[in-house]
Amino acid sequence: MGEVLVLVDHADGRIRKPALELLTLARRLGTPAAVILGAGDDAAAIAAAAGDHGAATAYVADAPEFADYLVVPHVDALTQIARTAGPTAILVTSSQEGKEIAARLALRLGSGLITDAVDLEADDSGPLATQSVFASSYTVTSRVTQGTPVITVKPNAASPEPTSTSCRIEHVTVEFSPATTGTKVVSRTARTASGRPELTEAAIVVSGGRGVGGAEGFKVVEDLADALGAAVGASRAAVDAGWYPHAHQVGQTGKQVAPQLYLAAGISGAIQHRAGMQTSKVIVAVNKDPEAPIFDLADYGVIGDLFTVLPELTERIIAHRG
Ligand code: FAD
Repeated sequence: MGEVLVLVDHADGRIRKPALELLTLARRLGTPAAVILGAGDDAAAIAAAAGDHGAATAYVADAPEFADYLVVPHVDALTQIARTAGPTAILVTSSQEGKEIAARLALRLGSGLITDAVDLEADDSGPLATQSVFASSYTVTSRVTQGTPVITVKPNAASPEPTSTSCRIEHVTVEFSPATTGTKVVSRTARTASGRPELTEAAIVVSGGRGVGGAEGFKVVEDLADALGAAVGASRAAVDAGWYPHAHQVGQTGKQVAPQLYLAAGISGAIQHRAGMQTSKVIVAVNKDPEAPIFDLADYGVIGDLFTVLPELTERIIAHRG
């Protein structure tokens, strides 16, 4: 079986969950090989974590360029590794950065590119990627027909499945292209940590809409999210009203999420909101209007006032956990 390169997302010296999902999916297509860039002294620990999810090889490259410049150093490294290793596919997480890296990489390799896959399958003629498009109204299956398939996969497309593999580390010295220094990072400001998972990667998302009634109304949403270990989302109506930060907006013009569980509280279910959450595995809606369109989409619905339902649910979850 050929190698499947997986660009490993890492932060603060740890492998991130979307990378474990990619490694799990890569096993369906061939032998996963992790590409670990700019991890410094943490590379060995990240490689070991990749091995615990099936990576037989870790291509490790380190250089200040990975931190000092935007995306291009990653493209240089992946291009070089791909040309030497000759993989059967290259997988990248569908983040904004990941999609830019994948697009540039595909161009350099003369390959076809598929973005935002929600599933992958092996096929005799190469990987088959499933996408959910047009506000999830259509499911499309596609295959790259030219070059090495470069595919970006949305977080939560698969559950990480551990498997013990001894991971061989191969150090790579990257020759950076003149384009590398085109866009330099001039400053970084750390976001205030909320202690909650990242919205696009969270297994559970609890979102509030206009029905929450104000910024202070998000307290019940946050309390439930914290009881569930979930991320907090918001509809555009709530964000535009200034009740919750824009970074939390879910939908067509916000973030696309596909968690295991999406709980929408006080959200009507407009098409633009659905576009960002319709591929969630289980959808629960809490709305006091039985005619709200969100109920057409929900797996479970509670007709009721969110200020009664959410605190009760939070209390029961906390009690259940003991
Ligand atoms: P509403 O539609 O006003 O719904 C509020 C709901 O709360 C109602 O169903 C009501 O019954 C319920 N409710 C009220 N009080 C309570 C209570 N106490 N308990 C329980 N339920 C209660 N929207 C997005 O969300 N994301 C996007 O990315 C996005 N992009 C857009 C892009 C474009 C180009 C356009 C035109 C629109 C976009 N919108 C987006 C806006 C979208 O059309 C809707 O206006 C928006 O989603 C509505 O938000 P909402 O459901 O919170 O509010």
